[in-house]
Amino acid sequence: METALWWVRNDARLHDNAALVAAAEAEELLPVYVVDPRQYGEQPYGGRDSFDFEKTGAYRARFQRETVADLRAALDAEGSGLLVREGRPDDVLAELAAAVDADAVHYQALPAPEEREAARAVVSTLGDAEVRTEGHWTSTLHHVADLPDGIQGIDDTFTPFRQSVENDSRVREPLPEPSLPPPPDLARLDGGRGAVPTPEELGLEQPEYDDRGVLAFEGGETAGLDRLEAYVWEDDDLREYKRTRNGLLGADYSSKLSPWLAAGCLSPRYVKRDVDRYEAERVANDSTYWLLFELRWRDFMAFQTAKHGGQFFARDGIRQREDIDWADPGTDPTAREQFERWKRGETGIPFVDANVRELNQTGFMSNRGRQNVASFLANSLRIDWRRGAAYFERQLVDYDPGSNYGNWAYVAGVGNDSRNSYFDVVKQARNYDEDGEYVRHWLPELRGVPPAYVHEPWEMDQKEQAAYGVVLGEDYPEPMVDLEASYEEFR
Ligand SMILES: Cc1cc2nc3c(=O)[nH]c(=O)nc-3n(C[C@H](O)[C@H](O)[C@H](O)COP(=O)(O)OP(=O)(O)OC[C@H]3O[C@@H](n4cnc5c(N)ncnc54)[C@H](O)[C@@H]3O)c2cc1C
Repeated sequence: METALWWVRNDARLHDNAALVAAAEAEELLPVYVVDPRQYGEQPYGGRDSFDFEKTGAYRARFQRETVADLRAALDAEGSGLLVREGRPDDVLAELAAAVDADAVHYQALPAPEEREAARAVVSTLGDAEVRTEGHWTSTLHHVADLPDGIQGIDDTFTPFRQSVENDSRVREPLPEPSLPPPPDLARLDGGRGAVPTPEELGLEQPEYDDRGVLAFEGGETAGLDRLEAYVWEDDDLREYKRTRNGLLGADYSSKLSPWLAAGCLSPRYVKRDVDRYEAERVANDSTYWLLFELRWRDFMAFQTAKHGGQFFARDGIRQREDIDWADPGTDPTAREQFERWKRGETGIPFVDANVRELNQTGFMSNRGRQNVASFLANSLRIDWRRGAAYFERQLVDYDPGSNYGNWAYVAGVGNDSRNSYFDVVKQARNYDEDGEYVRHWLPELRGVPPAYVHEPWEMDQKEQAAYGVVLGEDYPEPMVDLEASYEEFR
C-alpha cells in the first residue's frame, strides 16, 4: 500500500498539476496545505543591509484563505480532502508522514531562494525519515527542463531569452485532472482538518472592499477559471489586449489573471491553451501574441531568480551596482518621512498618489502605475528600492517573487534589461490619463481640478486653487520633490 502526501504550495489547482498527478498514483493520498509563520508578521528582509517588514498584508491573506477553501471543496467533491496545518513545512510534513506512514511527498518546485530553502529543509528532514520526496516544476509556461540552454545559460536580457524559447522550446500540453485515491485513515491524526487563519486572526486589519477597484479578486481555481473564461471568451477582450493593456480603470483593460497565476490557481499552460483555441476559433493577432509575450516575461523573471539567487534581491542587484547612493529610511529621517508619505499616497504628485491609494484600498495596481510609483521612489527619491518592493510584497494580492523584485530592480536600474533611465511621471500621466479621470477617481480632493492642472496642481496659483476647490498644503499636499530636478542625474 503506497501512501503519498501532496504538499500544496503555489499550485492550488486540480488542472495541469504534475505534483498532484504524481501523488495521485499512490493508493492513498493526503493533500496538505501548510501555513508557514515565517510568511506573516514582521520578518527580516535578509542579506546585507537587512530591514524588517511585514510580509503578508490583508488582501493576499484573504485571497489565500479563499484559495485554500476552494481547493478543499474541489478535493472533497472528488472523495479526497485537504489538511491545513500551521508550522514550518519540514516539521509539519515529517510529523504527518510519520502519522500516516507515508512513502512519498510530492510538491511544487519553486525557483526563488526562500521557497527553495523551504523545500530543501523538507527534502532533508524527510530523507532522514526515509520518506521519498519529489519536486515537480509547474509554475511557468515553459518547463525548466525544456529551456534550450538550461537555467544558467539564460541570457540576462529578455529579448534573447524570449527568442530562444519561442524558437527552440515548446510549451507542454496541460495535464488533465487525475482521479484521486482516498485519504488514509485520518482518525489517527490530531487536530481535525484545520483551516487557514482569517486576516483578523493573523492580526491584519481587514479592509472593506472598495468598489472603485478594478475587480473583486476572489481566491481559488474556480474564480480564476471564471475570470479567464470571462476575459477571453464571454467579453472577447483578448482581441484588443495590446491596445488596452496600458489602461488604468475597469476590469477589462488587461487580463487581471496575475493573482490566480501567482497563487497557482491557474496554470500558465492552461491559459496558453485557451489563447491557442481562441486563435483557431476567433482571431490570431498581435493581441493574442502579446498575452503570451507577457507570460514569457513572467517566466523570464522566475528563471532569473533561480539563476541569480540572493543577488537578484540584493540592493546592488544582478548588475552589482555600487555607484548609487541609496537613501535608507532606517537611518535617514528625511528618507523615512518621504517613504512614509509615499506609502500613504501623499507625495503631492497626483499620478503617484492615485496609484498608491488604489494599491492600499484594493491590493492591486496596473502595470503602468507600478512602473511609475516604483520609478518615483527609486529614481526621483533615490530611496532603497527594496523598501518599495517589500511594501509591494505586503500589499499586492498578486505578489510573486520574480515578477515583483525583478520589475523593481529593472526600474531601479540594477536588474535585468536595466538602463540608466527613469519614468517622467507627469508625462506618463498625461499620456495614459489624458483628462485626469483616473487621478480624480482615487483622489476625490482633486475632483474639481481641470485636466490642464490635475497632474500638476502645483502650477495653480491661489486664485485657481480657490476656484477649483483645493488648497495645496491643506486639501492636498505640496509636491515633496522637484521632479524636473530629480531627473537631472539621468539626462
Ligand atoms: C514594480 C513592479 C512590480 C510588479 N510586481 C508584480 C508582482 O508581484 N506579481 C505579478 O504577477 N506581477 C508584477 N508586476 C508585473 C505586472 O505589473 C503585473 O503582472 C500586471 O500588472 C498584472 O495585471 P494583469 O494580470 O492584468 O496583466 P496582463 O497585462 O493581462 O498580463 C498577463 C500576465 O502576464 C504576466 N505579466 C505581465 N506583465 C509582466 C511583467 N512586467 N513582469 C512579469 N510578468 C508580467 C502576469 O502574470 C500577468 O497576469 C510588477 C510590475 C512592476 C513594474
